[in-house]
Amino acid sequence: MANKLFASSFLQETLYPSISTPRSVSFSNGVTMTLLQRGVLQVSPPVVRDSCKHIVLSSAVHGNETAPIELLDELVRLISEQKLTPEHPLLFVIAHPQSILEETRFIETNLNRLFGHQHYPDSLELTIACNLKEQIKQFWQDTAIQSRWHLDMHCSIRASKHYTFAISPQSSYPTRDKEFVSFMLQGGIEALLLSEEASSTFSWFSASEWGAQAATFELGQVAQLGCNDPQKLTSFSQALMELIQLNPDQQHEETQDSSMIFYQVHESIYRENEQFELCFDDALANFSHFGLGEPLAKDGQRVLTMPIEQGRVVFPNANVERSQRAALIVKPCATHYVDKQLKVCD
Ligand SMILES: [Zn+2]
Repeated sequence: MANKLFASSFLQETLYPSISTPRSVSFSNGVTMTLLQRGVLQVSPPVVRDSCKHIVLSSAVHGNETAPIELLDELVRLISEQKLTPEHPLLFVIAHPQSILEETRFIETNLNRLFGHQHYPDSLELTIACNLKEQIKQFWQDTAIQSRWHLDMHCSIRASKHYTFAISPQSSYPTRDKEFVSFMLQGGIEALLLSEEASSTFSWFSASEWGAQAATFELGQVAQLGCNDPQKLTSFSQALMELIQLNPDQQHEETQDSSMIFYQVHESIYRENEQFELCFDDALANFSHFGLGEPLAKDGQRVLTMPIEQGRVVFPNANVERSQRAALIVKPCATHYVDKQLKVCD
């Protein structure tokens, strides 16, 4: 077996595929890398113990959100050069190469709205979503539910009051483990949004269908490939390296740091009409505060206003398709742990 899987890098191979898949290499440290298909790379540690986590690291669900793509490509390079020895099975995903090449969020429709149970019209992105669901199944079937982790990494379109933040999707499983939240804290994630609404995102699928410790990570703002400043995500990439090298018989260190700000999702605003505009400009940062009753958007004849005290607006986007989410309304909340699960204080 050749000891090099890629002529250049995982990312270059994903963008401009040349080798046939599946294809594997094993390194002298016992690590095996298998390119299962374009953009999907499985890494097996020297020994798979029962105590291992099975970690999915995904990027490029939106093709123009490039910092996480570069971060994963760098991790794969370090593993290939045996500078980093993972102790857990990993599944690296660069989800949507075509949209990376076209430097766009998506080609036909938003891929991160296609992981729900409903019927969706055929599209390039639907094919990708169905395939990713199958890859996840192959990776997680026969694993213990508490061993499954999924970090789905994105960047925000607009600026944010919190440079990095995460969204913990709704799930009927205990998917807000203290160890998972500690990882976020260590990675410098500034805020965590707790959603209790069924969704159709990739991380929601992992949390609700597979009971995984799963979240959508927003890691800074969109930029072209090669134009990201890796210094801005140093804490996150270091936490990630520690996580994948962590001895499986040790728990991730629980940090007592309380610098993270927690938010509860109060509601989503959906675009209903063709005529839809936001009452603020594109430069408004995520998590901006609006007073009770302040106008947020005009949807046809309706004026949508801030429905709560202390409300903040996240992910406002007037250009979504009709009946899709145009913004989230969130409010700060206090949290505590019950049986090592993060809960909102009543
Ligand atoms: Zn995204």
